Amino acid sequence: QPTLFWHRRDLRIHDNAGLYRALKAGGPVIPIFIFDYEILTQLPSEDARVVFIHNSVTELAEAYREHGGDLRVYYGKPLNVWDEIRKEYDLAAVYTNRDYEPYAKVRDLAVKELLAKHGVSFHDFKDHIIFESEEVQKNDGGPYTVYTPYWRKWKTMMESRMVPFEGGEVSFYLKPYPTEKYLKNLRQGKAKESIPTLAEMGFKEVKPDIPAKEVPRKVIRTYDETRDIPGVKGTSELSVHFRHGTVSIREKARKALGLNETYLKELVWRDFYSNILQAFPKVVDGPFREEYKAIPWENNEEQFKAWCEGKTGVPIVDAGMRQLNESGWMHNRVRMIVASYLTKHLLIDWRWGEAYFAEKLLDYELASNNGGWQWAAGCGTDAQPYFRIFNYDSQQKKFDKDYKYVKEWVPEYGTPDYPSEPLVEHKWGRERALRVYKEALAEA
Ligand code: FAD
Repeated sequence: QPTLFWHRRDLRIHDNAGLYRALKAGGPVIPIFIFDYEILTQLPSEDARVVFIHNSVTELAEAYREHGGDLRVYYGKPLNVWDEIRKEYDLAAVYTNRDYEPYAKVRDLAVKELLAKHGVSFHDFKDHIIFESEEVQKNDGGPYTVYTPYWRKWKTMMESRMVPFEGGEVSFYLKPYPTEKYLKNLRQGKAKESIPTLAEMGFKEVKPDIPAKEVPRKVIRTYDETRDIPGVKGTSELSVHFRHGTVSIREKARKALGLNETYLKELVWRDFYSNILQAFPKVVDGPFREEYKAIPWENNEEQFKAWCEGKTGVPIVDAGMRQLNESGWMHNRVRMIVASYLTKHLLIDWRWGEAYFAEKLLDYELASNNGGWQWAAGCGTDAQPYFRIFNYDSQQKKFDKDYKYVKEWVPEYGTPDYPSEPLVEHKWGRERALRVYKEALAEA
């Protein structure tokens, strides 16, 4: 009786919590991946993320083959696929890693119920983050909604349980799962069917710009000094790998521990927003602070289009949006600046910006994106107050004073082809935003 391991946002063998448990239970283990028809049909035919996932699945299959096993890859509606699989095999159990997004939770529950009807057990594990919401709670119970106390508690939790590791000790929560030890429990032999091609699923081959999985130690060591400068490679650029689990979050956190606490704190923002989504699923559809529903957004479509295309006449905003459109990634400092400009100066609903980022970001992660947007608009759990409005000129002077970043992404900057006036100028935009936010919140 085989056990199936279902890969989703964990496209790796190494240090994979659920896979480790499946293999350790005895096997034989058959790993699978499903290209989800329901998700893919909503995407444009040129989507770099699908290509990235396809490449990663292909690499994963090769990695399994090196150990005598193989990855079975399906394309369809997950529930239908599972119904086929359970008919084909006399299954013992199904193992997987937990996914916290609303769509995934509904999907997994349906699969679990289907399998239960046929006597197959479903086991899911924490792998994508270091702590789940129930693990980092306030002393008097309940989830944190402010980052700094959350971080303190997170760190206390992390240090609360140390175990031996490589001659020293490490937090139990960061210790790797040694999947390699049990790979002999993979079912041996090649999968019957080949991996569906991109064309078969309706996608074109595009070349995503994917950063390396290994980050030079120097980048992490000097992260404090360089992380806010968009014109230099001063951040890890691991986000796309965290998103799809092509690297292990535990491994990267463990490495950061000895090198740079500021970097570790950024990884903890990711846990924080995931925990917020788990504890307050309402953030998916609306503001965490209910009173922000009252903001009368201008929602000017022409201005939104100009923002999307990087044609606002604000150099750093335009550079950011073009970096996003061309590469699928944007520097964090600039994400904050463009989000602030959209929600404050242009008075456009943060959900429009959130949706645009969701379409374009290679590292798109519902929890972090939603958290980032609600932070910028002032309506989130740990948001900047609405009256703190980024001055794009000061941001430019502070973080890109030589216009290195701007010139890289906006080649016509400084020529007559570049607009001489911004779409909405800072002083006027700031005053309008202050007035509109203040009035709406006072009445709400
Ligand atoms: P580094 O600076 O090297 O940080 C390392 C890792 O820490 C990141 O890969 C990421 O996993 C995590 N991290 C860092 N900052 C944050 C943060 N503020 N919130 C959550 N996690 C963080 N990040 C996403 O992964 N997906 C998104 O869809 C996303 N949308 C965002 C939208 C807005 C409006 C804002 C302001 C931020 C958003 N972020 C998002 C957070 C952050 O901008 C990116 O994680 C970061 O720029 C990725 O680059 P990096 O890997 O080089 O980050």
